[in-house]
Amino acid sequence: MSIPPIAGHAAIMNRLEEAARSGRLPQSMLLHGPEGIGKQRLALWLSGLLLCERLSGCGECGSCRMAQRLEHPDLHWYFPIERPSKRPSSPAKLREALERARLEEVQRRREEPLQAAETDGPRGIYLELVQKMRERATSRPALGERTVFIVGEAETMVPQASSPAAANAFLKLLEEPPRDTFFILTSPRPGALLPTVRSRVLAIRVAPLKEEEVETFLRDEAGWPDEEAGRLARISHGSIGRAIRLRAADGSGTHERADALIAAALASRRERLQFLVTLPTARARAEFAHMLEAVEERLRDMTCLALDHPEGTFDADGARRLIGDRRLPADTLTRVADHIEEARVAARGNVNPQAIASVLLMELAGAFDGQ
Ligand SMILES: [Zn+2]
Repeated sequence: MSIPPIAGHAAIMNRLEEAARSGRLPQSMLLHGPEGIGKQRLALWLSGLLLCERLSGCGECGSCRMAQRLEHPDLHWYFPIERPSKRPSSPAKLREALERARLEEVQRRREEPLQAAETDGPRGIYLELVQKMRERATSRPALGERTVFIVGEAETMVPQASSPAAANAFLKLLEEPPRDTFFILTSPRPGALLPTVRSRVLAIRVAPLKEEEVETFLRDEAGWPDEEAGRLARISHGSIGRAIRLRAADGSGTHERADALIAAALASRRERLQFLVTLPTARARAEFAHMLEAVEERLRDMTCLALDHPEGTFDADGARRLIGDRRLPADTLTRVADHIEEARVAARGNVNPQAIASVLLMELAGAFDGQ
């Protein structure tokens, strides 16, 4: 079982390959750009290149094959992990539990590379994981000459601004990187990284994919029917991850809940309160994130209609149903979309989804009332 090929990104791959070949690749890098466009996939590819026995990413040597199966002992892939629900009795046990969860998730990603991780609790790259990373970084590579660490969603090293312990521990590692050790960080929100971490990595921007690249990938690699691949590529904003999440939301009631939230914001106070009662519980964080995405999509359609541009919509009839005979100007809808983005950021952290939804509903209602 190996991970699927990369979609797009040819130009950036050429640049990185050239730098690696001439030995100019820095030891610490940050790939940043929107979610779901393949930054971690790109980091895995680059790791393969760095670990290849011929230093070319030949795809044929033992190192390349192990890297493609995510089994290379000198390739360490870190990303945010959910804390165990029952707190282990000692820091060492917690470290082991998180490390076990990480390896299980790597295994899952190998088996279902096109399936997004679904966790309900808050996730983070906690101090204990960074300690594990340091332990690895200070020992010799198991196989070749080099060790590569990928740190996906690196901004989650600071799950709470008040507790920068994990990022500080990581910083020590970046300040004195062991020889022949590479760190490839990825982040959709590089501004959330500690400035001291940011200043120690070479930042490389990764652009969204072209719509055709998303469509080709969904059809040829994910095996989706033509119509579906085209339809979801069109609203993916160049993100395969987003297309996959949107598809998962089809038929799960997510769209209905998203519509109910917008309808409540447009309705009376009593209806708003009734809506709040029906919200899912605090545990259903992944589901809630999907719903916010569906709300965002719907508002985009409503904005297209307000701008008299129905051909840009995904579901014009659905948007018209919500609008009814109201007049909702595009600038109001854009303002509303900013609140959704804030809610999405809050939902990734430790904030209760019900609380976020209540605040969001009131904000939307305020914006709609005030226009
Ligand atoms: Zn090779």
